Amino acid sequence: MFSKILIANRGEIALRIHRACRDMGVRTVAVHSTADANAMHVRLADESVCIGPPPAGQSYLNIPAIITACEISGAEAIHPGYGFLSENAAFAQIVEEHELTFIGPTPEHISIMGDKIAAKDTMKRLGVPCVPGSEGALSHVEAAQAVADEIGYPVLVKAASGGGGRGMKVARTAEELPIAFQTARAEAKAAFGDDAVYLEKYLSKPRHIEIQVIGDGRGAAVHLGERDCSLQRRHQKVFEEAPSPVIDAATRARIGETCAKAMADIGYRGVGTVEFLYENGEFYFIEMNTRLQVEHPVTEMVYGIDLVREQIRVAAGLGLSRTQESLVPKGWAIECRINAEKLPSFSPSPGRITAYHAPGGPGVRMDSALYDGYAIPPYYDSLIGKLIVQGEDRDDALARLDRALAELIVNGVDTTAPLFRALLESPDLRRGDYDIHWLENWLGA
Ligand code: ADP
Repeated sequence: MFSKILIANRGEIALRIHRACRDMGVRTVAVHSTADANAMHVRLADESVCIGPPPAGQSYLNIPAIITACEISGAEAIHPGYGFLSENAAFAQIVEEHELTFIGPTPEHISIMGDKIAAKDTMKRLGVPCVPGSEGALSHVEAAQAVADEIGYPVLVKAASGGGGRGMKVARTAEELPIAFQTARAEAKAAFGDDAVYLEKYLSKPRHIEIQVIGDGRGAAVHLGERDCSLQRRHQKVFEEAPSPVIDAATRARIGETCAKAMADIGYRGVGTVEFLYENGEFYFIEMNTRLQVEHPVTEMVYGIDLVREQIRVAAGLGLSRTQESLVPKGWAIECRINAEKLPSFSPSPGRITAYHAPGGPGVRMDSALYDGYAIPPYYDSLIGKLIVQGEDRDDALARLDRALAELIVNGVDTTAPLFRALLESPDLRRGDYDIHWLENWLGA
């Protein structure tokens, strides 16, 4: 086991990783920008190193500074969290070249899955069901038209290097395709420096269902069922639950085994999430994330496992702690992403926290780096906490969510907490009857 791990992240996830390290008796090194000198992850870590000024490009994405922090602190491994450098294959490679351990998959697997076209190709070959669409990138609108004619409208033009819902354009008819094609390409070029786009059948009322996997890097892999992340705004997840209200045990076992087998076949190392759209009883692979997800706690709650500890174990070469047979989901878990944002516009609301009280009691977990008097800096994303609840069944979890939201106090900034209180009033949400468009329609209504 490592004796010291450097956490290359900030906010709630830096704290989450620190906690797993503490549980395992591993010392931690926090890195931070000058804007985060007083952040909770810095205060709790055993050591900390300032790696640059506030803009992420000069601090949390500053590879030489992070490697240097590792060398001066004597950390043997780096946990990248999510976002920032977590899916940067070049970073993983550089870490390895410095004889440090990257807590995550191989640079090769990160790079394949980071290119959505290569990812789909690979998954198709491994027997994972994919959304019908083009074989590879399309360089001309004529080629896109030919594919669209074959699979039928509506279609979606997607950026190969896309992320965060950017570089995606729907064409409902043949007339709309040239504009959608050009705009998606231009957006992709501007956002990712890569104008490669491909085409997919646009599914009209799917749910977003994702499968959690873990591989030991030596040919063994398990799945930990699904999360339903269909409640989205601008393709960003807002509320997640495990299990999904629409997946039964047989379906879970079937798609789970397909994913676990695919990961075993490629010798995948670490945790990963295979994302699907699910419509009319069919799964369609859209992408794979080669890192810990924001919403990982709902899986932890129903499977009684610590995914960060698993990541660290696998990185240390200790293999998986659990067999597939021992992984049986129990009860229900729900996560709400609490952002420092002003409703109804969802505009960022940074500033000083004048009062903070985290909800507690049975079945409630608050993953947050907030504290009284903390000033949320304006430079980073607006996620300030994740409220996770667990119950015997879905109704029990919803009741606990209601209780926990009533206890949560965050004064000084606006938050998205009131959104979840309003959502709990919705009969559709109570029934679990929603698809990926439901939230935007509900917000618009
Ligand atoms: P990103 O990497 O930008 O998040 P994804 O491929 O994961 O892109 O897609 C993000 C979201 O966009 C999905 O959760 C879904 O809501 C929507 N989406 C993606 N592909 C399709 C499709 N073929 N049909 C309908 N919606 C889609």
